[in-house]
Amino acid sequence: MPNKTFENAGSRYIRQSVLPVIGPGGQAALARSAVLVVGCGALGSAQSELLARAGVGRIILVDRDVLEMHNLHRQLLFNEQDVRERMPKAAAAARRLRSINSEIVIEAEVADVTSTNVGDFMHSADITIDGTDNFETRYLLNDEAVRSGKPWVYGGVLGTEGSVMAVRPGQGPCLRCIFPDPPNAHLLPTCETQGVLNAAVVWVAALQVAEALKVLVGESATDFKLTALDVWQGMTQTVVVRRNETCVCCSEKRFEFLSGERGSSSSVFCGRNAVQITPEKPAKPSFADLRQRLEPLGKVTMNGLVLEFACEDRRLIVFPDGRVLVMGTTDPAEARTLVAKYIGS
Ligand SMILES: [Zn+2]
Repeated sequence: MPNKTFENAGSRYIRQSVLPVIGPGGQAALARSAVLVVGCGALGSAQSELLARAGVGRIILVDRDVLEMHNLHRQLLFNEQDVRERMPKAAAAARRLRSINSEIVIEAEVADVTSTNVGDFMHSADITIDGTDNFETRYLLNDEAVRSGKPWVYGGVLGTEGSVMAVRPGQGPCLRCIFPDPPNAHLLPTCETQGVLNAAVVWVAALQVAEALKVLVGESATDFKLTALDVWQGMTQTVVVRRNETCVCCSEKRFEFLSGERGSSSSVFCGRNAVQITPEKPAKPSFADLRQRLEPLGKVTMNGLVLEFACEDRRLIVFPDGRVLVMGTTDPAEARTLVAKYIGS
C-alpha cells in the first residue's frame, strides 16, 4: 500500500532514475517488477535490501531457516532482537524491509524450495536471485529457469572469494553449460567450516543485484560473463562464457533436478525423531577431513563405522556412503539445512 506520509515521496528514487542506465523508464519498470529472492541469509539480506531501496515493486523472500547469533556478522538485515525471538529469516527480513520501504510489496515464505514448489515460486516473479548456500537448490533453480524461460542470477561466496553469473535462458549459457555437475558436497568446505568475510558477501550480492536490475530495465545482453572475485586481494576476473551445445539442461532439455532424477532425498524416520538425508550419488566422505573441519564447531566422535557430530541440540550421524541421519528433528527442511551447513550439500 503506497505510503502517503512523505511529502516528497515522488523524489525518493531521483538519484537513481537520473542515472542514464536506469532513467525514468527503467525506474517505472522496476516498480512494475517482481523479484524472487531464494535464501535470506547473507547474500539474500544484502540483495533484498538493495532491491527494496531501488524500488522493485514486489519482492518475494523464501527461506527455510531461523536466526542464530552467528548469522549476525554477515546477514545485514537482522539484529540481536530477531535472534532472541528465534525469528524465521524470511519473516525477520520482511519486517525490516517494510520499515525501509513501505511503498513496495514484500512477501515472505518460510519454506524449503524443492522440485515440487520451485515452479510456483519462480512463476510469481520476473527474475530469481540466488541467495542460497547449496548447489542442490541452484541446480533446481537452473532447471526451472531453463524450462520456463525465466532469468536467474547465480551467486556464491566462501571465505574471501565469490562468483556471479546471470543466466538468461534462450540467450546465453545456463549454469550446467559451465558447471555440468554439482561438486561433490563432501569434498567442499562450507561457510560454517571455512568461514566467510562479510565484505565478500556484499560484493557478490552487489554484482548479482546489478545483473538483475539490467534484466528488469530491459538492457539486452551483448555477451555473457562469469565473474570471480577475491575481496581480500581486491581482484576480479571476468571470463566470457558460451552455451554448451551438448548441455543436458538447456540443449537436451532434460531437467534432471526438477524431475527428481537427481538431487538428494530426505526421509523422516517415524517414531525416531530423526530425518535421513541421502546424497544425490553415493559419496565416500573422508571421516578424517570431516573430523578436522567439525571439531572446532561441536563434539565429534568416531567409532570406526560412523562419524557423529553433536551441535545445536542435534546430532548428525554420517555413514560411509554419505548418508546423514539428523537426530532430534522430524523436519526435513531443518535436517537439510544442518547437513548443508556442516557436511555440505
Ligand atoms: Zn546449458
